[in-house]
Amino acid sequence: MTARNILVINCGSSSIKFALACEAREGFILHGLAERLGEPGAVLAWQQGDLRDSIDLQGAGHEAALAHLLPLVEKALDGPLHAIGHRVVHGGERFTQACRIDAEVLRAIRDTAPLAPLHNPANLLGIDAAMALYPQLPHIAVFDTAFHQSLPPRAYRYAVPEPLYSEQHVRRYGFHGTSHRYVCHRAAEISGLALGDSNWLSAHLGNGSSTCAIANGQSRDTSMGLTPLEGLMMGTRSGDVDPNLHSHLARTLGWSLERIDHMLNHDSGLLGLSGLSNDMRTLEHARDQGHAGAALAIEVFCYRLAKSLAAMTCALPRLDGIIFTGGIGENSPLVRNLTVRHLHVLNLELDGEANARCVRGVEGPIHLAGHPRVLVIPTNEERQIVLDTLAVLG
Ligand code: ADP
Repeated sequence: MTARNILVINCGSSSIKFALACEAREGFILHGLAERLGEPGAVLAWQQGDLRDSIDLQGAGHEAALAHLLPLVEKALDGPLHAIGHRVVHGGERFTQACRIDAEVLRAIRDTAPLAPLHNPANLLGIDAAMALYPQLPHIAVFDTAFHQSLPPRAYRYAVPEPLYSEQHVRRYGFHGTSHRYVCHRAAEISGLALGDSNWLSAHLGNGSSTCAIANGQSRDTSMGLTPLEGLMMGTRSGDVDPNLHSHLARTLGWSLERIDHMLNHDSGLLGLSGLSNDMRTLEHARDQGHAGAALAIEVFCYRLAKSLAAMTCALPRLDGIIFTGGIGENSPLVRNLTVRHLHVLNLELDGEANARCVRGVEGPIHLAGHPRVLVIPTNEERQIVLDTLAVLG
């Protein structure tokens, strides 16, 4: 069989990330980003080998951006394109794995939109546009929530009245599943363990952050819930707060639900606590300069992360290692160090030199010999979507 070529599309409300892969080759043939779609500054930028280029899209929307991408993809390929893999954020309880998109799957993704009003409609824009441009190709949906469908009820149910679950689908779903899945496979591989007989805690730390407990290759608990706001402190999201905060702010300040929502999703987290930035690099620099807000934000971030990881151990029969990934997890020795310091009870101990070395895509163990594994593993969600797409094609 000839090696198959797969295009991965990750469509946000004003951006499209894409990557073109051939199953016979490492890395991507072509990858890039179309951003500020629908605005005057819309631009399509890509990298092919060492070559970087971009074009001004002149306010183009999603379909026009994909139409510009098509000739680039065809020029970059030796043979035909075999399928397109689409990232879809929310698959509800319906989707436990990737699947080929047909009219019924499209309807189900649309029906799930109330659970992910910011994400699923944007994902659908990309799917609709790509299907219009490539109607003859198989289109595969890969869901962020699917990996967590193996959570047991004790981990996914909220302690609220039962009809809210059975009638309104209120439960914990979890996100970042594609990333947690990719890094646990890689962790088992580099540790010489069978995935089906290994147990991991994974910390995906980017602008959005979550932890996951993975027992024998299956997600058994995760920190995000009904929405990606639950759990860890993030770039601009608060993570867990007292649920009574809503009524408290409504009563004392007269704030509307929309205002509270916006504050918790966009003005909180690292940005809110530091009063400075949601970017960990900026905060680390400011902390070095003595900025008290930055120091506090990093301290709270790491303490809460450690607390979540410790709690996640309840879902595992034993611990084979902790994985750090995502922009912060892959690049911040400081965050890894401060977090692990709170986990003495798990006998974790870092090797300072290895911790400093694992940045900018360098993978590896960072623990001291004789202590439980701590691994830095750069995530590669696009690669996982390629693998899932190939698996669906069979
Ligand atoms: P997203 O969730 O948007 O995909 P990323 O995974 O790219 O985000 O992570 C973005 C975060 O990674 C930002 O907070 C950024 O500051 C942080 N980051 C990137 N490089 C470094 C670095 N060298 N040191 C510390 N933090 C970093």
